[in-house]
Amino acid sequence: MLIKDVMPSFELFQPTQLKDAFALLDRYGKDGWKMAGGYDSLSWFKERIKRPKAVIDLSGIAELKGVRETPDGIEIGALTTLTEIERNPVIKAKFRLLADAAGRVASPQIRNAGTIGGNASQDARCWYYRSGLPCYRAGGNTCFADTPEGVNREHALFDTDRCVAVSQSDTAPALVALDAKFVVKSSKGERVIGYEEFFIGPKIDITRLTSVKPEEILTSIRISNAWAGAHFYFEKVADRDTWDFPLVNVAAAIQVKNGVIETCRIACGGVSAVPRRLLAVEGIVKGKPMSADIAKIAGQSAPRGASPLNYNAFKIPLMASLVTRAVRDARA
Ligand SMILES: Cc1cc2nc3c(=O)[nH]c(=O)nc-3n(C[C@H](O)[C@H](O)[C@H](O)COP(=O)(O)OP(=O)(O)OC[C@H]3O[C@@H](n4cnc5c(N)ncnc54)[C@H](O)[C@@H]3O)c2cc1C
Ligand code: SF4
Repeated sequence: MLIKDVMPSFELFQPTQLKDAFALLDRYGKDGWKMAGGYDSLSWFKERIKRPKAVIDLSGIAELKGVRETPDGIEIGALTTLTEIERNPVIKAKFRLLADAAGRVASPQIRNAGTIGGNASQDARCWYYRSGLPCYRAGGNTCFADTPEGVNREHALFDTDRCVAVSQSDTAPALVALDAKFVVKSSKGERVIGYEEFFIGPKIDITRLTSVKPEEILTSIRISNAWAGAHFYFEKVADRDTWDFPLVNVAAAIQVKNGVIETCRIACGGVSAVPRRLLAVEGIVKGKPMSADIAKIAGQSAPRGASPLNYNAFKIPLMASLVTRAVRDARA
């Protein structure tokens, strides 16, 4: 029987300087675990499924926290809480999409401690994996969800490769739509990467959902003013209206001039292992008047190429409806 709520022991480190966190990550390698708000991390430990030797709690590192205005946009420390993001006046004024998405994560209690970095970096929620079964993602040689009996209504429609788990972060598609850049640092240096490089699917590495390596830390997220004040839309559909992961969500940033869509970025979560940017839809709507007709065409195009599993075909019309509403109802 699985013993729950009794964590295996580990060394706990609480550095206050980034350089000390890097030294610990270099020392422990794959045996080290970065912890931010702990809402994803602690459930792994309590289930006794992930058993790091050392937990490096990043919450005492002041430079990882807060929202700063920069000459060309904002820089958000990775340890900034989701509540702060939801309420920050600059984010609300310029990039409301991100505040709206952060405000739809889980519950107020989780948003008070959960961080933007942890939310974007969170692991797959597939219950087979979460219950400790030895599937592909856990290093085994099968997928329990993608079988005739597999319970897979939450799983992927696109780009599967052995694993059919999805990205269920609510902030991730908003960050894609806002063309955010992810600042990832280690003792060896820094890389600033776009969403295509930050979020990774099973074809690249089946054991993780981001490209952040054990010795690296996501230190901040940058958003440029290029999308400030655009028309925005975020919507998430979940089984329950609160405290629940998205079945599908959509985030759209649309620049409109004289009623015509000049340019846009639209992404959906809950449909593939990475937030899925809808490039074909963006191509269809660019240069067209923002209207119910073009929104309908956008929605119909959104799920093209989907390959549903046994129990998740309902996500196809759901995705179409969300994208239709995003293009029709996005507002400045
Ligand atoms: C009951 C419940 C409901 C939830 N509902 C939703 C929901 O509706 N929508 C949603 O989007 N999420 C939901 N979540 C997920 C939750 O919001 C995230 O797990 C949480 O926000 C993660 O943030 P954290 O700061 O607590 O991260 P942690 O748990 O500390 O870390 C999460 C992961 O990210 C890694 N990590 C954290 N910070 C960094 C960093 N700076 N650099 C590199 N790696 C890092 C950690 O190593 C770990 O693997 C829910 C969680 C629970 C428990
Ligand atoms: S979907 Fe992925 S995480 Fe879930 S059982 Fe299959 S391999 Fe494991």
